[in-house]
Amino acid sequence: MNCEKCHKETPKGNIYTFYYGKHLDTLVDRWSTLAEVKVTKTYVYHIMGSYSGYICNKCIMKKSIGSFLWFFLIVSFFFAIIITTKIYWSFLPLLCLCVVFGIGYWYMGRKNAGDSILAEIHEERLQGQGANHFFSRSEYAGLKPYTERPYSK
Ligand SMILES: [Zn+2]
Repeated sequence: MNCEKCHKETPKGNIYTFYYGKHLDTLVDRWSTLAEVKVTKTYVYHIMGSYSGYICNKCIMKKSIGSFLWFFLIVSFFFAIIITTKIYWSFLPLLCLCVVFGIGYWYMGRKNAGDSILAEIHEERLQGQGANHFFSRSEYAGLKPYTERPYSK
């Protein structure tokens, strides 16, 4: 498939999705207890739509190189401990842990990076249609429905 970012034809990639919409309103809810005044803000968005497209793994790697460096730094730190303390028996479970953690990290990080690369590509075009907020799938899942009102007495 053709990568939307680098426009290269490669089978190594995935379909990513982002959501776009408008910030409609910010609802401010204040209430006071004896000690303090508390404020909660609820951001109300109108979700206009979503877009899915193909991004190759190379472009994802380029985008998330910073977090991958951190991951490798942490892994090599643990391996350095094993080697210097010569506790080789702890090698195997730790290796398994690193592999599991690495796969999870790649999957989660890749998804977010891919969604935001895709959003960056289409940002200008969608801003022309009135969109001013872009959400990755995990951000979208964390959004409250735009019709929701904060609880008030
Ligand atoms: Zn690419």
